[in-house]
Amino acid sequence: MAERIVTGEIIERLKQLAGASNVLTDESMSLHTTFRVGGKAAAFVMARDESSLKAVSEYVSSEKIPFFLAGNGSNLLVSDSGYDGVIIKLAGDFEEIKVEGTRIIAGAAASIIKTAAVAAEHGLTGLEFASGIPGSVGGAVFMNAGAYGGEIADIIIEASTPDGAIKKQDLELSYRSSVFKKNGRVITGAVFELQQGDNSSIREKMEELKNKRLEKQPLEYPSAGSTFKRPEGNFAGKLIMEAGLSGVNVGDACVSEKHCGFVINKGNATADDVYKLICLVRDKVKEHSGVTLEPEVIMLGDFEKL
Ligand SMILES: Cc1cc2nc3c(=O)[nH]c(=O)nc-3n(C[C@H](O)[C@H](O)[C@H](O)COP(=O)(O)OP(=O)(O)OC[C@H]3O[C@@H](n4cnc5c(N)ncnc54)[C@H](O)[C@@H]3O)c2cc1C
Repeated sequence: MAERIVTGEIIERLKQLAGASNVLTDESMSLHTTFRVGGKAAAFVMARDESSLKAVSEYVSSEKIPFFLAGNGSNLLVSDSGYDGVIIKLAGDFEEIKVEGTRIIAGAAASIIKTAAVAAEHGLTGLEFASGIPGSVGGAVFMNAGAYGGEIADIIIEASTPDGAIKKQDLELSYRSSVFKKNGRVITGAVFELQQGDNSSIREKMEELKNKRLEKQPLEYPSAGSTFKRPEGNFAGKLIMEAGLSGVNVGDACVSEKHCGFVINKGNATADDVYKLICLVRDKVKEHSGVTLEPEVIMLGDFEKL
């Protein structure tokens, strides 16, 4: 068996840097992903303030220990063999949401749903689209999350990182992508510029979008939302349905019959089941329509190339 990268010595050092109660070992990632699958992270560290984030990131970088920033795990598939590295999750101070006039300053660990609710409370319009996206502000910025005609790029002014703020024009925001996919930096927060609006129409809009989701999406099952990116001029769900894949399964991983764009976990799926199903769907859709679907879901750990 290969030697483990994350040794007891590394765990002890992480405990000194982040506080013992903020370091979990052999933590099942099924508890931290909305797919509810995935193996163990050798170390799972909650960074609750700037200083512990700085100390932990400097340590793992200088020692060349593999690390990964997890948000709410709502777009994440971790392999069954887990991750022999350090998962860093922001918490505490990074969950703060402040309102300054028409601006919202949110920590990266704040829920984007909660941020949208705070905006609504203050009569600020522009974040309604995000009110059903179960991610963190950090994950939403990283992915340039969007729905129903809105996306983070429409409202963000800047994102903060431990090395300073990055202005919108340098965030390289495009469909489900940002500069963070390339630069690997930690997002610690974001500033959103909204518009003064009418409280009741904001709430109405949010209610309408919630009902649309409930009607169209299999929210009763664990998933990571849309499994694939929308291909140019088409819809992944439509292509998957037309390829006859509605309800197709590998183990307990299944193409939702309610919305073919979602791979769902019907109970006891493994990450391997999900991954094999993703590959099967990709291949069958390519065969049927000639379109190559690209996963939107971020994969972490070892997956056999299929
Ligand atoms: C039911 C359901 C519905 C969904 N609907 C939508 C939708 O309508 N629109 C949409 O765009 N998405 C949707 N999603 C997908 C998902 O919620 C979004 O992509 C979300 O933005 C991911 O945020 P997260 O915090 O969960 O990130 P994670 O899944 O934890 O991570 C995603 C990526 O972001 C990176 N990341 C996270 N936080 C940070 C940080 N602080 N610094 C640097 N990198 C970071 C991670 O390293 C990873 O690469 C849906 C998911 C589900 C389960």
